[in-house]
Amino acid sequence: MSFAKNYVITEQIGAGAMATVHKAVQRSLERIVAVKQIMPHLASNPQFVERFQREAKAAAGLRHENILDIIDFGGEGDAYYIVLEYVDGPSLREVIASGGKKLSLPLVLSIMTQVLSGLEHSHNSGVIHRDLKPTNVMITSSGVAKIADFGIAHASALPSLTATGEIMGTPSYMSPEQAAGRKIDQRSDLFSAGIILYEMLSGALPFQGTTVISLIQRLIHEPHPPLRKLNADIPDALARIVDRALEKDVTRRYYDATEFLYAIENFISDAGIKTGSRVIKEYLATAFEIDEASSREKLSTSQVALMKTPTGATKKRPTVAILPLQGCFGCHVNLLDLHEKFEKVNRDIEIRFTYLMDVKKIPKVDIGLVEGCVANVENEERLHELRESCDVLIALGTCACHGGIPGLRNLHSVDAVVDRSYVQSESTISNGVIPLPEHAPALTDHVRAIPSVVKTDLLIPGCPSPHDMILSTFESLLSGNAPEMPTHAVCAECLRQHRTLLDPKRDFIASRVRSLMEVEAIDPIQCFLEQGVLCLGMATREGCGARCTKSNFPCQGCMGPAPNVREAPAKWINAIGSLMPSGALRFRDDVVGFGYRFTLPVSMMPKKIDRKGP
Ligand code: SF4
Ligand code: SF4
Ligand code: SF4
Repeated sequence: MSFAKNYVITEQIGAGAMATVHKAVQRSLERIVAVKQIMPHLASNPQFVERFQREAKAAAGLRHENILDIIDFGGEGDAYYIVLEYVDGPSLREVIASGGKKLSLPLVLSIMTQVLSGLEHSHNSGVIHRDLKPTNVMITSSGVAKIADFGIAHASALPSLTATGEIMGTPSYMSPEQAAGRKIDQRSDLFSAGIILYEMLSGALPFQGTTVISLIQRLIHEPHPPLRKLNADIPDALARIVDRALEKDVTRRYYDATEFLYAIENFISDAGIKTGSRVIKEYLATAFEIDEASSREKLSTSQVALMKTPTGATKKRPTVAILPLQGCFGCHVNLLDLHEKFEKVNRDIEIRFTYLMDVKKIPKVDIGLVEGCVANVENEERLHELRESCDVLIALGTCACHGGIPGLRNLHSVDAVVDRSYVQSESTISNGVIPLPEHAPALTDHVRAIPSVVKTDLLIPGCPSPHDMILSTFESLLSGNAPEMPTHAVCAECLRQHRTLLDPKRDFIASRVRSLMEVEAIDPIQCFLEQGVLCLGMATREGCGARCTKSNFPCQGCMGPAPNVREAPAKWINAIGSLMPSGALRFRDDVVGFGYRFTLPVSMMPKKIDRKGP
């Protein structure tokens, strides 16, 4: 294969027991990558190479913002390479070393939520890391934590390698069951994540020993020192989260990364701590003098769409493919509704594929824009084709980002949907005939949002997406900058008065939840919630300009969950609970249709029953 011809090594950037890592230029895509070369003594072990290759493939299937991308794998002679996304920032080990005990809570929690998001994705894809530790978490200059080394972690568990008595992996970050050589599952990674969290908060490891044996003894048999003894500033609630992650009994630990993440996000939300990539980015700028703008020139051909030559001159108009999947086409019309503004964008890009063009195969493009979600097998195939054809993939609209209205199909089995559509529906002229697979693509078991199927680089939510957001995203991309997304909830941009904190009497707050129809006249100034009308603004991402509440209609949540909100309905029920007297919230009808109208496929319970369900 033309492996080495495609990669020009520029400098060595790391070396470990199993591999050396080089910075390189990928000629075909003119971008910077990292090339990891497996040590010769391992490359000559066919069992290792075969296992490594298999695991590299499994890890390459993991497409998530918080997992380091595997770009390629290959070999020439005895040399085996794995090509990875290049990260222009420090490892988490270096970040911990830079701060000691002084890493701030916002920074620690920003990193931890991203690490757990990456783990959540890998576990949901059936891949356990097995060697999660700070050196395996890289931080980009734009403040994104990426878990690395899935392949090597699994390959290192080969019996023939461990039989030498050498301890593979890093005992300080192992779970007790892993250290004891017992069977492990995803909860082992959660223990490792708990150790990392403990270390970030205290500057110390929870289990230490003068020898590996004494360390493992402590790991298996002794409790960790209470976190608050090492750092009294750590809130109790957060210390309890760490304690649960470090339970030696796996049945008492968090069951999965989602539950762990949920606990952290709830803590962040309750404590009112501001987290996110910006917090990490600011820390890198101060502690490491790394700033995104100076790194971007080096990365100009990768995440920011191949717009510049190495000298910075404009090389060509970025090419774009637009693929509509399951949706109402409202997002497509919305693009055209940009009118002359779209023409301006259109002048700066070259659209190579839309469904209106008579082009069957999606050509290679710089930017893929996908609207709608995945609801049938054809959607899925086309989406994979687009992902493989483009460098940057943008999900446009709520159907694409979160599943949207089509996602409500997940409340029913495929059979029930087909029966309702073709047999029972009074408005369908089908004479009860269900189309054959060659006439209509088969429905997938459930509807999925784009990021649940392929790696997605950017989300522009909204039903349809706000024009300003679309334009600013394109303008950023075209000028070679990483687009910024809003970081608050709709309440932050809603002009309605919400007075509870100012007025302790609260006599203006409705005593029960009412439907819009029940309220004689909606006050155009007062917050909907205070009037007893359900509004999802506090749990929904801002960016739409609170266009509904301005039109005297409550927010239905079309922009998807606000940052740090895992389940919008939980947040909204909390808000009602703290605002109104007990018993004020009595659900009479469609709770799911309100709380999960736009986000069911990305919620913690994304579907009710599967194809073979009752
Ligand atoms: S997000 Fe809304 S406007 Fe866009 S395709 Fe889906 S339903 Fe239609
Ligand atoms: S809950 Fe709704 S009405 Fe109240 S401030 Fe938030 S967005 Fe506005
Ligand atoms: S107010 Fe809510 S429902 Fe309305 S556009 Fe904004 S996010 Fe969507």
